[in-house]
Amino acid sequence: MTVVAAAAETVARLRTEVAALHAELVRYRLVVWTSGNVSARVPGYDLLVIKPSGVPYEDLTPAAMILCDLDGNVVDGGFAPSSDTAAHAYVYRHMPQVGGVVHTHSPYACAWAAVGEPVPCVLTGMADEFGAEIPVGPFALIGDDSIGRGIVETLSDHRSPAVLMRNHGVFTIGATARAAVKAAVMCEDVARGVHLARQLGQPVPIAPRDIDHLYTRYHTEYGQP
Ligand SMILES: [Zn+2]
Repeated sequence: MTVVAAAAETVARLRTEVAALHAELVRYRLVVWTSGNVSARVPGYDLLVIKPSGVPYEDLTPAAMILCDLDGNVVDGGFAPSSDTAAHAYVYRHMPQVGGVVHTHSPYACAWAAVGEPVPCVLTGMADEFGAEIPVGPFALIGDDSIGRGIVETLSDHRSPAVLMRNHGVFTIGATARAAVKAAVMCEDVARGVHLARQLGQPVPIAPRDIDHLYTRYHTEYGQP
């Protein structure tokens, strides 16, 4: 049995999940036209499922999703994979705990990326989710491993699951693709909130020990048991 046949059931589930998560990017207004992409690692295999390149969001069915290896080569799919596949694949190769990656050009986060400034942690909801500022990664051009390397170097040993790649946009990571989508939604929300705060005055910092407390509580006690 080939690797792909062995993984068939998991791949089918992830095709459905990843296709549905792309609709969330639209619902939360994180993307326009065909920009943005979601991928999921196929657990237990050196494979990922990702959006095809340049296909309209309304046509992103489970069958349209592309199965690639972790070098970004197409294993199964009828379209070329997202042009950001190399960056996603690089993250999966270097961050074994990551099960999902999302990329968007959501506008408020992009504004911070354009000025090269991290979003400071000045809201308790941001401390919950991110536990820190949302950092800025390096300027990197598409075409080699530069974007992937910049994501991994910035997010390794950082609590934030989101990075603002300078002059570009947002990449988020998560244990699952759904968690990475949530991080992308929250990133845009806090980028907007802190931007609005800046229009009113200088945001008041939260003490680092309070950020630690909020982050720990949220990640250990919040939600349903
Ligand atoms: Zn991009």
